[in-house]
Amino acid sequence: MKSIKKNEIHIIKIDDIGTEGEGIGKIDGYTLFVKDALIGDEIEVKVIKTKKSYGYGRLMRIIKPSPYRVTPRCEKARICGGCQLQHLEYSEQLKYKENKVRNLLERVGKIKDFEMLPIIGMEEPYYYRNKAQFPVGMSKEGQIVTGFYAGRTHSIIDTTHCYIQAPVNEILLKVVKAWMQWNHIKTYDEVKHDGLVRHILTRVGKRTGEIMVCLVINGEELPAADDLIRRLKAVEGVVSISYNVNREKNNVILGNKIVNLYGPGYITDYIGEVKFQISALSFYQVNPEQTEVLYGKVLEFAEVDKDKVVWDLYCGIGTISLFLAKKAKFVYGVEIVPQAIADAKVNAEINGIENAAFFVGKAEEVLPEMYQKEKVYADVIVVDPPRKGCDEELLACMVEMRPEKIVYVSCNPGTLARDLRYLEENGFKVEQVQCVDMFGQGVHVETAVLLSRKAQ
Ligand code: SAH
Repeated sequence: MKSIKKNEIHIIKIDDIGTEGEGIGKIDGYTLFVKDALIGDEIEVKVIKTKKSYGYGRLMRIIKPSPYRVTPRCEKARICGGCQLQHLEYSEQLKYKENKVRNLLERVGKIKDFEMLPIIGMEEPYYYRNKAQFPVGMSKEGQIVTGFYAGRTHSIIDTTHCYIQAPVNEILLKVVKAWMQWNHIKTYDEVKHDGLVRHILTRVGKRTGEIMVCLVINGEELPAADDLIRRLKAVEGVVSISYNVNREKNNVILGNKIVNLYGPGYITDYIGEVKFQISALSFYQVNPEQTEVLYGKVLEFAEVDKDKVVWDLYCGIGTISLFLAKKAKFVYGVEIVPQAIADAKVNAEINGIENAAFFVGKAEEVLPEMYQKEKVYADVIVVDPPRKGCDEELLACMVEMRPEKIVYVSCNPGTLARDLRYLEENGFKVEQVQCVDMFGQGVHVETAVLLSRKAQ
């Protein structure tokens, strides 16, 4: 292998794409990862970092563009850390995601003979997000800037128009900026840890049109609050205005305390026929339309009816549980965050759902305990873990409980593959795999997998 040195310029052909959407090419067998380069591109690249068998390069010039390359709609797409794939045709983004999942299941999961259903893409892969957290800062020229962080940094790209957020955000940002200017409200300076406004959080109910605005501040009180309320109330749809106190010197966006200024403290929205109350601190899926598609698939896979008992592990605010409860005999949800369980109970109540119960705790502790002490059983187990996947103790307990089916919902195909391998080695068979795109222009993908118990 040729030795490759930093700052060298090379011409390479990109022939693969990595898990973060970066292009991958080779110089005489030496692998180079190049952000913003696409499969099929011929590029001039500058080597910026080298390791023994691979390195990183910066895209300097496209010599011959990939046939799948498109001009990003957003002129800030390359510098902003929000979207990684806007320069790739949407149908190719979908293919990339589906292949990523298939490859991991085959290579890491060692899974054979499963049916890969065609990925379900979004009808309109723009303006789909219902939640935004815009950092607020000051430009060198002394202007208030709001927008997004540049990839892997904390410098703010000033932009009010984001192509994956609800369009109304543009108006909301302008209103808040104008209020800050008029009232001489200071932006937060994260280096000096002074100033007031850190982030502007917005949530938009896609179905209801209800809007929440919450300012995250480095202080206990919000000056000129009446003026803010007056200005924001003039925007159609705004039903909730609040602020969140975050006086910590860290990267965490929200503090624990919310002070309500106007409205009930939450907005409502729907996933399918289930209604949700969403407060500033509660977790809610960012793309409710595709969530409905994904959970519809979960329901289809689970094939529940009025005889079936279901355990929904990592249930969050009960989104999947309530969806299933409409068809099942009884649904038990388990979730580690107490506030999410409180929300789940409220959500069950406002939907008149009585055949669901929720427990706070770690899934890997609650389920084994309930199984040993109370002899609970499950016809179907649904899991929807965070990126790190399921704990092995939990998988072992699921195996022991011998449900007819397991439906595994995953946001990380790497840990999904690992966990499916365990389940396949312990009496279950992967039958069908369905990817659903919830994050157009980004690299993430959601997958629902149906497993059935092998006959013994
Ligand atoms: N199914 C839910 C949420 C899935 S996100 C929905 O669709 O809304 C994953 C959830 O797992 C988060 O709510 C997180 O708080 C929770 N979680 C993380 N670790 C956990 C654990 N060990 N046991 C139970 N829940 C956990």
